[in-house]
Amino acid sequence: MRSRRAAWIALVIALTGVVVLVVVLVPWRTGSLPVGRTLPDASRDFTATQLSRSAVLASSIQPNALFSLVVSLAVAGGLGVTSWGAKIIAAVGRPLGGGWVWQVVLGSLALAGIGRLATLPFSAYAETVLRRVGLSTRDWGLWAADLGKSFAIGAGLTTLLLLILYGSMRLAPQLWWAIAATLVAGFVVVGSFLYPVLIEPAFNRFESMPQSQLRTDLLALAERDGVAVDDVLVADASRRTTALNAYVSGLGSTRRIVVYDTLIDSQPPPVIEMIVAHELGHAKGNDVLLGTAIAALGSAAAVISGYLLAGWAPLLSRAGVSSLADPRSLGLVLFVMAALGLLLAPVQSLISRQIEASADLHALELTRDPASFIEMQRRLAITNIADLDPNQLYYWVFVSHPSTIERIAAARDWAEVNRVPLP
Ligand SMILES: [Zn+2]
Repeated sequence: MRSRRAAWIALVIALTGVVVLVVVLVPWRTGSLPVGRTLPDASRDFTATQLSRSAVLASSIQPNALFSLVVSLAVAGGLGVTSWGAKIIAAVGRPLGGGWVWQVVLGSLALAGIGRLATLPFSAYAETVLRRVGLSTRDWGLWAADLGKSFAIGAGLTTLLLLILYGSMRLAPQLWWAIAATLVAGFVVVGSFLYPVLIEPAFNRFESMPQSQLRTDLLALAERDGVAVDDVLVADASRRTTALNAYVSGLGSTRRIVVYDTLIDSQPPPVIEMIVAHELGHAKGNDVLLGTAIAALGSAAAVISGYLLAGWAPLLSRAGVSSLADPRSLGLVLFVMAALGLLLAPVQSLISRQIEASADLHALELTRDPASFIEMQRRLAITNIADLDPNQLYYWVFVSHPSTIERIAAARDWAEVNRVPLP
């Protein structure tokens, strides 16, 4: 009973930490832009052809993504809250002696494999759509290799997490939640640190941007911004896509700013500089660190909640096990993780959109060039065939960035508030 009380206290501390980080460190004040002077109006910046292209793509990609999500949750539920998952895990573990390690490793691989196969048609359909509109440049060989690598990495990380979880339960039946919560939080932090050096190179090659006026200007921009950047990396994104993008990843010594080669090859310097100015906003705001800290504390809270709910016998018996410590319960664990992920998606998207709006504001303040900002948004939206008229519910639940139209309206508001003339 003492352990349960300690777990409740630890849960309250972890959740308080998440709330404090979200309330204090997420840049909510950016919400004052757009200030509503400029009404978002897609027809002002985009032609009727561009608008219809955007609508056509969104209307085939988004329902497909939703169906895929529904199927994957249904499969996870079928394996998690019936005895099917437990039967499969026992069966795949048996040839190797049925020990708990084999049950976890082969069981999680089997369940992840079933989930992957169930959603494979949706992935293939999405690829045909992206290819038809010219966004994907992959052949089916590279598509299959990408899918295989993503699956191996995802399933490998999930298996590692489950080994931590079930290993802790066996090591310390009373206090396993404290060990597992600490290890899982540490896993998130180490993962975020190692991501750019372990995971990203599995898909892309990265090279320093060659010496050029552009490189000199970008590094000068970073210096003027007071952000320590000694290199800008170019990713060979054109192997897969024509889309334009840039991002910041990593923590501390692994932090890097990456731009797609598609961007360097097709866009004029002011557009590239504006995109890098936005990324500098992420670097300066330590947004990766903030996201990592929220995810680490949130995962710890999820582990502790799992312990507190572990005595919930009806759910366990539905899953065909008598105790959570039985590795045959991992289908239930995976289903709860997936359901929790979906429930938290609107909150995650809201936080992300706020951080993105703040990076936009940073780019405007650093460059004081709203005209180039608007041009950048226009070019990105046209090339990436962005959704120019997002469905409100879809946007609210899943979309990580403010819409192009909102971002352009915010730039016009910024120009008006700061008395910078626009053409
Ligand atoms: Zn961003």
